[in-house]
This record gives sequence, structure tokens and C-alpha cells, in this order.
Amino acid sequence: MSHQDHPTHTQNTFEVIVIGSGFAGLAAAIECKMNGGNVIVLEKMKAIGGNSIISDGGIAAPDTEEQHVLGIIDSSELMFEDMMRSGEGLNDPKITRLVCEHALDAYTWSKDVLNVKYMSRVDIFGGHQVPRCYSPDPLSGSTMILKMKRKCDELGIEIRLSTYVKSFIKDDSDRVIGIEIIENYSLNQSNAVISTKRYASKGIIIATGGFAADKQFLKKIIKEDFLTTNKKSTSAEVIEASMKINAATKHLDQIQWMPWTTEDEIGYGKGGLFGDYIVSSYGILVDCKSGKRFVNELGNRKHVTDAIRMTKDVIGIVDETSVIKTGWKLEDAINKGIIQVHPSLDHLASHYSIPNESLKRTITDYNSNITHKNIDPFGKVYETWMSPIETPPFYTMRIRPKTHYSLGGLVTDIDTHVLDIHGNIIKGLFAVGEVTALTHGANRLGSCSVTECLVMGRIAGRKVVEY
Ligand SMILES: Cc1cc2nc3c(=O)[nH]c(=O)nc-3n(C[C@H](O)[C@H](O)[C@H](O)COP(=O)(O)OP(=O)(O)OC[C@H]3O[C@@H](n4cnc5c(N)ncnc54)[C@H](O)[C@@H]3O)c2cc1C
Repeated sequence: MSHQDHPTHTQNTFEVIVIGSGFAGLAAAIECKMNGGNVIVLEKMKAIGGNSIISDGGIAAPDTEEQHVLGIIDSSELMFEDMMRSGEGLNDPKITRLVCEHALDAYTWSKDVLNVKYMSRVDIFGGHQVPRCYSPDPLSGSTMILKMKRKCDELGIEIRLSTYVKSFIKDDSDRVIGIEIIENYSLNQSNAVISTKRYASKGIIIATGGFAADKQFLKKIIKEDFLTTNKKSTSAEVIEASMKINAATKHLDQIQWMPWTTEDEIGYGKGGLFGDYIVSSYGILVDCKSGKRFVNELGNRKHVTDAIRMTKDVIGIVDETSVIKTGWKLEDAINKGIIQVHPSLDHLASHYSIPNESLKRTITDYNSNITHKNIDPFGKVYETWMSPIETPPFYTMRIRPKTHYSLGGLVTDIDTHVLDIHGNIIKGLFAVGEVTALTHGANRLGSCSVTECLVMGRIAGRKVVEY
């Protein structure tokens, strides 16, 4: 509900309030404070980090030192082309271009200002034309979130936990000046909760993430029961509160599914790495009913998800040579029974009841195509790092897509102001990160969310202090 109101208690007034303590919110808060703003971060959960902290934290950037060393030729223009192609025209070219043009700067900022360390590898995910994705060391979003928390501590930025934002307050001039909150919030609360008000003299930055786990909000969009990689707390209440003050939304029905997960564990889990980093680049997907391939495994996530959801009974396969080449360790996922190890293709076929001859023909054809650089029937481009699937043991995982990322959300301009349904700026209100609508369009390329969160978060942090 929208309120006409005035701040009465100065102790409840800040210059800037950031809602959400993921990559986008903390980047905004740090940049805001470094530019002289007095900022507080409010977080509904008992711990910081949102989906950012459980992510892999992989970040995409073009024209980096790491690429130069490997002879990879890349540019912000090429990254922009990739994101626009994948977005199928639903992204706003101005915002997508801004993210690409500032991607290198954001990556460098994470190293120089936050002190995040990265592995020396440069990975590629479906839909990128060249490898441009960097993995934090250790591989986890928590690597960057913990560095951000340390920076917040250094700068004296308070992060107030268990503080749930439920609505916005406007003044007589229609400017957003505050919020209504629930203190001591927990996911399992009863309905009897007391709410209070907090005010912001310069602005409020929404960085509340996505809603890909919000079954209630998504029930009209996804009719079947679904699994998700997201935290249970990933929900749409701040988008709904924004809509009540006439904020515009777009593409709320565009949900990205992570194709590379398995139903044999919850969330993104251990299998996500096997699927996303290994099978997609080095292996094949096979339909267990027919023993045949059915998709370009290096297609973008939407393309691969759609094909898997149509096919249903699907496994990913790679051989020993490829697993060694990737450098990733699989013991944990193997010990947990998520990845299966087969001494032979006969063993593999019998384990999943796949027609044996058909599977062998599929693999022979695939190997021959790689070796002779033939045209792939599904349009896969055979890259130099790929090799035939021939060296036992063979590694497999059952594959089932899970909701992963909400592509739609609040409509913003390039300065991160939230726009209303008439296209006008809602004064005092900013939004950054996954809660926004226009960066990725119909499909987000792997590692581009972290880039977006840092680029747009930092822009909001600077813009809000200008008021
Ligand atoms: C398993 C997994 C792996 C991923 N790996 C990658 C990757 O390697 N690279 C990449 O680019 N992307 C990746 N992504 C996507 C990426 O992590 C997210 O899109 C990104 O972290 C979102 O950041 P954010 O700051 O917008 O939101 P979040 O990190 O989700 O933070 C939002 C915060 O706002 C809080 N909040 C929400 N509502 C309220 C409210 N009402 N009041 C107060 N607080 C509220 C939430 O509790 C949360 O802490 C991955 C996602 C997942 C789930």
C-alpha cells in the first residue's frame, strides 16, 4: 500500500537504505559509502548473502589479462552481441551495453577494492562466443560476499538482519521517502508481527534479488510442480510492494531454468558443476529412451532447457580424458551417488536401460564428427578443447532443469531509477540486480548476473548520493 507520510523520528532516518545483502545490494552500499553517503543495508534473513552466497560467483568480463595470456580475442562489443542474441530482443540494449562496457571495470574492482582472488582458468558457458568467465577461488559466491562484508565492516556500513521490508512510503510530492518494515522477522514467523517505519533522505535502493523459488507468485506462470536452485526465501514481495506504488514491471513470466542440475539432490548442489562446467563444454546429452543426442549442448540455457524438458529422461556423459582436462574434482559428487562412474559403455547403457547399439552409434558418430571436424547435426561448434568420448571410465548424471533466475522484474533506466507505469522516474527509488527486468531478456548467459550486480549496484551507489 502506498502511504502519504512524513519522517518523525530522526533516529529512524538514514540518507540511503539498501534492501538486500546480495552482490547487488552490497556493491551499491560500498560504492555509496565510498562516495560519502550514509547508508544502511536491511536484510530479511538471519544471515547475509541471498542467492549470491550460494552461487558459484562466476563473473563474465571481456578483454582481460587472463584472456590476453590465452590468446582469446574479446571485446565489450562481442559480449554485448552475445547477450543481445541470447536475450531475443527482450533486453534493453542501453542497459545491456552499459553492463558490457563496465564489465572489465567491475571485475577489476572486485580484485582491487574487494580483494577477491580468482582461479587462473577462463571458462565458457553456452551462448558466449569465447571463454570469458572467471571463477573465484574457492569456487563459491561466498568468496566475494565475505570480502564485501569485510569491506562493509571497514567502512562502517551497518547490515541489519531479520528486517523485512513490506511496503514503501511516499510524501506529498510523490517521492519515496521511507519503508514499512517488520523487525525480528523469520521465515517461520506467525502472522502477528509488529511493523515500524524507516526513512531515507536521499533514496532507497531495492536489491532484493529474484523470485524463482516463489511458488505462490509463479503459480500462474509455471503450471507444473518444479524444483529450484534458489533459496527458499527467494520471493517477490518487494516487487509486489513496488507495484502498489505504480512501479512498472516487465517480463515477469520469463523464468530461466538451469538445465544442468539433477533431481538426485536438492538445489544446484554438487551436480551443477558437473553439468554446467563439464558436460556442457566437453560432453553430450543423451535421451535414455532412444540412446540419441537431441540438442547442441553448448546452446544457451533456454535452448538446452527447452530441449531437455521436451525429452524428459536425459543423462549427461563425459569420459575420463575430458574430466582430467577440466581440472575439476568430482569425488564428492561421486561419493554422494549424484555422478555415476561406468567402466564401459555397455555398463552405462545397462545402468540406465538405454538401447545399447543406439547409444554406441551416437557416440561413434559424435567422435567421428569431432575428429573430422564435420558439421554437427545440432549445430554444435567443435572447439579445440573438445575430444572424442572414448576413454573409460565414463561419468554420467541424470539431468533435470530447475528454476534458476527470474529474468523479469522492475523496470529501470540506465541510472537505475525505478520507472512507473507511465515511464516516469519514481523519485527516491532505485533498483539493481536480479530484481530488475531489462539486462538479460529471454535468457541470461552464465556468469553475467554477477557482472550486472556489480556494475549496476555501483552505479546506484553513486547516483543515490547525488540527490
Ligand atoms: C546456485 C546458484 C548458482 C549461481 N551461479 C552464478 C554464477 O556463477 N554467476 C552468475 O553470474 N550468476 C550466478 N547465479 C545467479 C546469481 O547468483 C544471482 O542472480 C545473484 O546473486 C543475485 O544477486 P542479487 O544481489 O540481485 O540478489 P540476492 O543475492 O538474492 O540478494 C537479495 C537479498 O535480498 C533479501 N530480501 C529479499 N526480499 C527482502 C525483503 N522483503 N526485505 C529485506 N530483504 C529482502 C534476500 O533475503 C537476499 O538476501 C547463480 C544462482 C544460483 C541460485
